[in-house]
Amino acid sequence: MDCILRCYHFGMMTERSASKIAYFSMEIAIDPAIPTYGGGLGILAGDILRSAADLELPMVAVTLVQRKGYFRQHLGPAGNQIEEPDPWFPDSVLQSLEGTVTVRIEDRDVLVRAWCYNIRGMSGSVVPVYLLDTDLPENSDWDRTLTDTLYGGDQHYRICQETLLGFGGISLLHNLGLKHVSSYHMNEGHAAFLTLALLEEQLKLRGYTVPVEADVEAVRRRCLFTTHTPVQAGHDRFPWNLVRQVLGEGRTALLQQCGFGVEGVLNMTHIAIHFSRYVNGVAMRHGEVSQDMFPHFPIHAITNGVHAATWASPPFQELFDREIPEWRRDNAYMRYAVGIPCEEIRKAHDHAKAALFKEVHRRTGVSLDESVLTIGFARRAATYKRADLLFKDIERLKAIAKSAGPLQILYGGKAHPHDVGGKALIQRVIQIAAELRDDIDDIRVIYLENYNMALAKFIISGVDLWLNTPQRPQEASGTSGMKAALNGVPSLSVLDGWWVEGCVEGITGWAIGYDSKISGDDSAAESVSLYEKLERQIIPMFYRAPEAYAEVMRSAIALNASFFNTHRMLHQYIANAYSPKTLIQKAQEVR
Ligand SMILES: *Cc1c(COP(=O)(O)O)cnc(C)c1O
Repeated sequence: MDCILRCYHFGMMTERSASKIAYFSMEIAIDPAIPTYGGGLGILAGDILRSAADLELPMVAVTLVQRKGYFRQHLGPAGNQIEEPDPWFPDSVLQSLEGTVTVRIEDRDVLVRAWCYNIRGMSGSVVPVYLLDTDLPENSDWDRTLTDTLYGGDQHYRICQETLLGFGGISLLHNLGLKHVSSYHMNEGHAAFLTLALLEEQLKLRGYTVPVEADVEAVRRRCLFTTHTPVQAGHDRFPWNLVRQVLGEGRTALLQQCGFGVEGVLNMTHIAIHFSRYVNGVAMRHGEVSQDMFPHFPIHAITNGVHAATWASPPFQELFDREIPEWRRDNAYMRYAVGIPCEEIRKAHDHAKAALFKEVHRRTGVSLDESVLTIGFARRAATYKRADLLFKDIERLKAIAKSAGPLQILYGGKAHPHDVGGKALIQRVIQIAAELRDDIDDIRVIYLENYNMALAKFIISGVDLWLNTPQRPQEASGTSGMKAALNGVPSLSVLDGWWVEGCVEGITGWAIGYDSKISGDDSAAESVSLYEKLERQIIPMFYRAPEAYAEVMRSAIALNASFFNTHRMLHQYIANAYSPKTLIQKAQEVR
């Protein structure tokens, strides 16, 4: 248990108080070899914890063990997605913790054990991650599967998982003797039941059963919440009969006493907001969009970042170590990439590009051409991300490749198993790839299977241009473009999410369309803008002014990698969210 009894000191958090931040997330990308994440949300959680360990922040994390992972993706010849379980073996990589806790689900006690993975920072400081596990012989066969599959099963399975995360997580921290948690940080609404567990404790303390405002306020003082998407499917809602079935009468009554009964369904985001002293979106624009969605509570914004040492490719790690030795400890020093000769940036990028192409050849047998402008598009295959916007006018795209210069385009991304539209999008891209292959030599499109952290490391660093085409305003932040920037890869992106802040036109990359706040499907105009940027600016610069292109690459690092990292992000959480005193008052004033 040395992992939690250490002394910490960081900024205002002194050894004396040693109060902790408990970070709850349904998914965490702990390590590339552990498939306990589905996409950006889990990667972000992992990057935050890696930075917390580097910065010696007093943080612990709670998640589920997800023994069968998210899923492994295969793509059939017609582009149909085939999903397989992605089992892994906690025993071989995790430390087993003594003892169990119980969680009441459907009027039975489900036994929960926990594993620990220590995320070690650069100075040796540790952030322990606790992974809850119900696969115990004392549990029923069905209960044993409850911590198997991330986002698997139906709503019933999901509310059971969220019950485990919230109630089980709080019980576990108690069992571990973790006192003085100053902040329970909910990464998305999946973790919102933890507030109910804290409320029950508060009531027990007073010996009451019905909460008053002071009890709610006591919980609120300890909780904060980050919302991650304006997309409705990202906000869990459960029908009341299901809530009553899984949580039981007592907890359902408690929720209704807190005012949730007036809504037709139980909305996890509403619980999280109601019980938090601080709520934030994940980019400045997303903060505004979320404020419109939830007008009754102040929604702040802290823009996401990425863990620089995790996402810099080996050639860039070497270059930064040589030119900016402080960069790992303090990412802000990456600002001084302005002083690195462009030739060095290009050389490092050529190595990363060669490593990507070697990997593509290993996986697909295809040999790509290192002299050709290579575009990357890889992320969850959600429909709002519009992976096919580039193909809106195929004839136009072909003409551009013929006249301005050839293109290679690499795709990757999984669709959620229930997302019919996302799966159709993958099929469409793969079918277009086949047609183009038969039709024209100047455009090569490859869709790589099973996009995950390991593949992401190759793609985000090895392509020459990172493309992002979300439908505004649905991209809350996006982080893969930040990973690309860190590796000197500029973005061509719709002005949404982080790119509203990161785009300096022609300097760090290029914008698609205009920064109009009007939402809705603007895809016709946006595709025209996309083609024009490629044809008139990007392709000519890449082939005919490589020095100018290298300057854009360098500015992407100096201006964007130095800011869009999780070190800076955590400093902002400390200044704005983790120090409770000032903010509770602000929240109260508005309320
Ligand atoms: C970074 C990353 C994501 C998130 O990408 P977005 O740009 O935020 O959509 C998803 N999946 C993997 C494997 C990643 O590495």
